[in-house]
Order: sequence, then structure tokens, then C-alpha cells
Amino acid sequence: MSNRDNRFSGRTAIITGAGSGIGKAAALKLAREGANVALFDLKDTRTKEVEEELNGIREGCARAFDVDTSNPDRIERAVLEAVEIFGGIDIVFANAGINGVLAPIEELKLEDWEKTLNINLNGTFLTVKYAIPHLKKRGQGSIIITSSVNGTRVFTGFGMIAYSTTKAGQVAFAKMAALELAKFKIRVNVICPGAISTNIDQSTDKQGNLEDIVIPIEYPEGGQPLEDGPGTADEVADLVAFLASDESRHITGSQIFIDGAESLLR
Ligand code: NAD
Repeated sequence: MSNRDNRFSGRTAIITGAGSGIGKAAALKLAREGANVALFDLKDTRTKEVEEELNGIREGCARAFDVDTSNPDRIERAVLEAVEIFGGIDIVFANAGINGVLAPIEELKLEDWEKTLNINLNGTFLTVKYAIPHLKKRGQGSIIITSSVNGTRVFTGFGMIAYSTTKAGQVAFAKMAALELAKFKIRVNVICPGAISTNIDQSTDKQGNLEDIVIPIEYPEGGQPLEDGPGTADEVADLVAFLASDESRHITGSQIFIDGAESLLR
């Protein structure tokens, strides 16, 4: 086994949204390379399946926790439980998110706006907040936050006003946190994926007269200069693993686009 196969050995990661898509791919990658992984997600069969798959790689390396990122008590408790089971936290991947309701602003209900903000943005804040004391105890740590090209480089996701607002907020949060936590050797970076094949469409609810606000724009065929279609969750997981590892030890406060240059076209 090379060192790289073991680069997370003795380390523990918390991953939110670990039951599907990018979170699941990152959980598999980190576990294969030696990490213990606390899988935070709305506990459903998918998350249990990820737990089983990871424990098949290395018995005892994974535990699924029933966590709604918009519920502060549940996050706080799950963080404590994870620390009790695995002995500490080294890596935090704040990744859970929904597209939520897509609608014109005047038709978007406050409760739908709040739901997206609570899960995506409050969830990021709460996950990081409750993990910090444990990262400090380790004397170092790596926090990675999943934002998006939407709200950071792309503003043509018509109807995605709540989603894009959370994604922009996550970038500011990550950069502020990077400065605040640098003296504790805790690094904070934010990744901005473009279109990635996952289950995120299941969390998308189109409402109202969206066609009224769409400005028709024609993109070049293919849409992505580097590849002719969406990226994969595994490609994002490779970036997450790099940012989680010591190979990125001088990188903090960085915003990394992983989109095949898709967002530069828009
Ligand atoms: P996904 O739907 O496949 O996975 C998201 C996971 O988050 C699911 O397992 C879901 O159960 C979980 N989740 C949802 N609400 C939750 C809550 N309240 N508490 C805990 N867990 C919750 O989607 P994905 O594409 O893997 O999304 C992961 C992140 O990537 C999101 O933050 C999303 O905004 C971001 N992102 C995705 C894309 C894309 O094209 N797929 C692009 C840019 C950014």
C-alpha cells in the first residue's frame, strides 16, 4: 500500500449530505484512503447503504447519523456522538444542500426561502460552529464547504434566487472563517461545482410562472468547454480529498471552481 492509500489514516471526517452524490463520493474516497467517516444526512436507506458500503471497505470506519442540517440541536449532538465514537475530528465537509423551490421572487413564499437558507446556509454555519472546538483540540484541521457556480459566477439560474443566495453566502463565510481560524491551523476552503450528475434534481421544486422571468440565452453546443456534459461526483471527491489532505497545507480561504470552465461561458 502506498502512502497515498493511507493518507487519512487516523483521521476522522464529518461529511454532511453523505447519503448521495458528492457527499457519498467524498465519503467513499476518504474511507478508502484510511479515514473514519461520520455520515450526516437525513437518515434514510441511502445513508445506511453508504454506511454499509464503507464498513465493507474497513469494518467500523463509518457511522450514519440522522442529522437535519437545519436543526442545531441535532447537529451539536451528532458532532459529540461522532467524537465519542471516533475520538476526534480532523476534517469537516459541509456539503448538504437542496435546490429547494425555484420561483419568481414575487411568487416565492417566505417559508420556502427560509427552508433553503436554513438547510444550505445555516447548516454550513452550524456544522462548522459545532466542529471547531474539536478541530482546535487536534491542533489543526481542514474544513471544505460546497458552494456552487450559481450565485458566485453564474446568475442565469432563473428562479434559483434562494439557492444562489445561500451559495454566495457560503463563499463569504468560508473566507471569513479561513482568517478567523488560521491561528489554530484550521484551513477553510470552498468549492464551486458546475453541473454534476447526482440526485439533486430530487430536491428541486419548480413553482409559479418561471417562464416569465427566463431570459433566453444560447450557449455553445456542449455547454462545457472541457467535457461534453456534466462532471461526476468522483471528480469533485478528488478535489475534496486534496483539500482535506496535507498536500494542500498552504491553501486556505480559497474558492475553487470545478466545472470544466462551464461558468466562464455564462
Ligand atoms: P444530492 O441530492 O445527490 O445529495 C445531497 C444530500 O444532502 C442528500 O443525501 C440529501 O439527503 C442531503 N440533505 C438534503 N437536505 C438535508 C438536510 N436538511 N440535512 C442533512 N442532509 C440533507 O445532491 P449533490 O449534488 O450531491 O449536492 C451536494 C452539494 O453540492 C449541495 O450543497 C449542492 O448545492 C452542491 N452542488 C451540486 C451541484 C450539482 O450539479 N449536483 C452543483 C453545484 C453545487
